[in-house]
Order: sequence, then structure tokens, then C-alpha cells
Amino acid sequence: MGKIRMWIQRFMMGRYGTDKLNMTILVTGVALCVVSLFFTRLPGVSLVLTTLSYVLMIWAIFRTLSRNTYKRYRENRRYLMILERIKDKEHRHFDCPKCRQPVRVPRGKGKIAITCPKCREKFIRKT
Ligand SMILES: [Zn+2]
Repeated sequence: MGKIRMWIQRFMMGRYGTDKLNMTILVTGVALCVVSLFFTRLPGVSLVLTTLSYVLMIWAIFRTLSRNTYKRYRENRRYLMILERIKDKEHRHFDCPKCRQPVRVPRGKGKIAITCPKCREKFIRKT
């Protein structure tokens, strides 16, 4: 057993491993695979779902074994940021049209002028 563990450890050295985005991809892949079982009478639908689930699972494996850890880390951060935005019901999120800086403003204030905290660009958005 120890030998196998050491081999795995050496194999994973410098590789990205797993994160929250990977878990989401994997769970979605498995879920699609299960859903496809309900469409055995519709081979077209079943094929699309199965293919999609394989693509997702291969993507998750690719991310786990990836050596480009910085890029994977950034993907995960972007994913977490999107999750955060969806969960946040009290604010609206915009990206500055000039420098792409994310800006958060309270919801339900009507049309307001937003000043970017980074580049001072002013833009009007409906909250
Ligand atoms: Zn800006």
C-alpha cells in the first residue's frame, strides 16, 4: 500500500489537484450521467447527455492533473466570485466599462451614477 501511495504522491507533485469548481464539474457530470438513464427511449437525448457528462468528467480530470496551477487557481476564483454574486441578494454587481474592476452597489436604489473606485470612471446603471 505504501508504495502505491508514494507513487500517487510523486505523480501529483506540481499538479493542481481539486477545488470547488472541480467538484461542481464532477457532480454535474455524474448528475447528467444519471439523468441520461431516464432517456433510454430517446437515444438522441441520451447520447447528448452521456457525451456531455463524459466531457465534464474529462475536464475535471484534466484540471486535477494540470500543471498550470496558476491558471486553474484563477478559474476557481472566477467561479467562486460568480457564486458569490448569485448568492448576494442585497447588492448588484457591475464591471467598470473602462477597467473591468468589479463594483458592488446596493440593490433597489433606481438609476444611479456609479464611480469606479479604481479609475474614477462614471457610469449609470439601474439597480
Ligand atoms: Zn474603472
